[in-house]
Amino acid sequence: MSPRPRPPRHLADLDAAGRRAAVTELGLPGFRADQLSRHYFARLTDDPDQMTDLPAGLRAELAAALLPRLLTAQRELACDQGMTRKTLWRAFDGSYIESVLMRYPDRVTMCVSSQAGCGMACPFCATGQAGLTRNLSAGEIVAQVVAGAAAMARGDVPGGPGRVSNIVFMGMGEPLANYASVLGAVRRITDPAPDGLGISQRSVTVSTVGLVPAIERLTAERLSVRLAVSLHAPDDELRDELVPVNRRWNVARVLDAAWAYADTTGRRVSIEYAMIRDVNDQAWRAEALADLLSGRLAHVNLIPLNPTPGSRWTASDPAVAREFTDRIAARGVPVTVRDTRGTEIDGACGQLAAVGRASADSASADSGTGGRPTLSLTPR
Ligand code: SAH
Repeated sequence: MSPRPRPPRHLADLDAAGRRAAVTELGLPGFRADQLSRHYFARLTDDPDQMTDLPAGLRAELAAALLPRLLTAQRELACDQGMTRKTLWRAFDGSYIESVLMRYPDRVTMCVSSQAGCGMACPFCATGQAGLTRNLSAGEIVAQVVAGAAAMARGDVPGGPGRVSNIVFMGMGEPLANYASVLGAVRRITDPAPDGLGISQRSVTVSTVGLVPAIERLTAERLSVRLAVSLHAPDDELRDELVPVNRRWNVARVLDAAWAYADTTGRRVSIEYAMIRDVNDQAWRAEALADLLSGRLAHVNLIPLNPTPGSRWTASDPAVAREFTDRIAARGVPVTVRDTRGTEIDGACGQLAAVGRASADSASADSGTGGRPTLSLTPR
């Protein structure tokens, strides 16, 4: 098998020193890297024609060397009156990924993909069904955020111009299985402008199935990003089925790693729990979950299961979900039920599968306005 070609090198793959070195290799002074960074991370543009502070003769060369267009928008679907927007992206090798932008009254959250596909094979998640295609580069992850930030800055999202305030690594893929790229992306996203996008580390959430060695590595980085652990069951017997990697690192080991993260960072760990009817929503499992979490720096995020094609599972009955929530809360464990956005456009948790490909027709969504889904291709 020939090795898979790597995405072209991009400014966002490199730290400040790496960017300067790359420019120096082109025979140019290092400060050109800072100018390019300012265009990409602060002005949110990779269009050489707009880089008027660079000599005209250098713009195309610099952009080609460090700002290759990594992702092409294939299709955009919107719902919630345009406040939720899912973008299907095509990468250089024809891989497809998706990102979702969600505007709320007090924040704008982008859900980004870290891999094309996913190798974790959780049976209730659409992404897990197709397997892993490849890891994304840091540049490809950052490009999703930059596109969302540019759309917000242009005022493309109803509600007027604004900024992306929160990032969740809850799109396609297992972020901690693509550690180096995800960490590079976190740095570019959180480094102050013009070296990065200047989003607060506290507003970035890395969600994992529970890859213990990678959680330990992340702990040692001493960042203040939020860690989310996709637990979904308090007992190994059920978790072995719902999150197959549990057979390698079981509930006790994953939670030990999570508590070490909380101790080191001082940040509350988010415990993700998709409520699946008659599978993991029994009262005794609520009690077992509370046993594991009570007294810990943890917060439970219950997610009503979102439907995925071919799955035999469905969301918990609302009354059952309420009882589950109440039991956990009664034990003093903070718990919220996630407001699930984007179900109509298959943009909710576990629904991202990058299907539909280039066909810009399939008008499934936009229950919010009753209109057609928005299609907008970003011109270079
Ligand atoms: N691989 C990472 C991040 C991607 S999924 C992880 O597993 O944490 C983001 C969250 O959505 C995870 O908690 C995941 O378990 C959950 N999820 C997956 N499929 C879902 C579905 N069909 N309904 C509700 N939540 C789902």
